[in-house]
Amino acid sequence: MILVLKQKATQSEIEGLKKNLQARGLGIHESKGENTTIIGLVGDTSHMSEESLLANPVISKVMRVNEPYKMANRKFHPEDTIISCEGQKIGGNNFAIMAGPCSVESEEQIISIAEDVKKSGATFLRGGAFKPRTSPYAFQGLGCEGIELLKAAKKITGLPIVTELMSITQLEFFEDVDIIQIGARNMQNFTLLKELGSCGKPILLKRGLANTVKELLMSAEYIMAGGNENIILCERGIRSFDNFTRNVLDLSAIPYLKKVSHLPVIVDPSHATGLAWMVPTMSKAAVACGADGIIVEVHNNPQEALCDGEQSITPAEFDKLMNQVRKYLEFEGKII
Ligand code: PEP
Ligand code: MN
Repeated sequence: MILVLKQKATQSEIEGLKKNLQARGLGIHESKGENTTIIGLVGDTSHMSEESLLANPVISKVMRVNEPYKMANRKFHPEDTIISCEGQKIGGNNFAIMAGPCSVESEEQIISIAEDVKKSGATFLRGGAFKPRTSPYAFQGLGCEGIELLKAAKKITGLPIVTELMSITQLEFFEDVDIIQIGARNMQNFTLLKELGSCGKPILLKRGLANTVKELLMSAEYIMAGGNENIILCERGIRSFDNFTRNVLDLSAIPYLKKVSHLPVIVDPSHATGLAWMVPTMSKAAVACGADGIIVEVHNNPQEALCDGEQSITPAEFDKLMNQVRKYLEFEGKII
């Protein structure tokens, strides 16, 4: 349920109303816009009548929210959420460029790629240290050493780092990580999501391989309900019957998510297509569809990459992609 407050409501009246609602066992989510304050109620509001709420002189409008996601709902928070991270912004007019290898492989590899993508205009460095691999015999990532190498690359380039957390037992190594990625395979690991509610860092939440957009929003809701509202949603392609691409990039999910939620939405054209040559086209499509950023796999030697080489573009290709994407961003009125 959403309460739109009257413009003339004073701060003490608003505080009084909030106390009264909290005393009824409801969670409060306050959103202050330029002209109006909105109070979103989280919890069981079925027993509350619109009429009795409207009797309160501070309340101008009462709306029921039918969707199961409340805090992630744009009705609760009409303005775009803008996430600030290490001097970078994601959301609103701010477009994030996350680039780097699928996996951190060595100091030389990560530093060389970080320097290259920074020069071309990336604003975040991505790189997996703990890797979710289909085969237990495949390279599993460098683990803690990988995180240390990402930190070294950050020190040299200044790029904030994004890396995947697979288990809450790894959280102790993520103190200096700037954005925690929750991968597609963990999107519905509810125990993990609950734990992230009390972690102060932004979370990049990837859509599961076979999950609906509503399920993605409900997973964001899990983290938000725990107190962490800094969520970046990521469309990374879903499974379908046709395998000419690795997954199917659900472009229509972008405008839909932007309509129903205030959270920033980024696109991963690398995992979505699995094909390096298609990454620039789909990056441009992401911008045209209203995305708030892209996360792209870049490798200095894709043929020798320990993971996802076939979908990784080279630093030179990334540079070319950036020049194209800049033009699209200008058209959309977005800034990097
Ligand atoms: C990745 O970003 O390298 C990754 C494993 O992504 P996803 O969870 O989308 O498969
Ligand atoms: Mn990958």
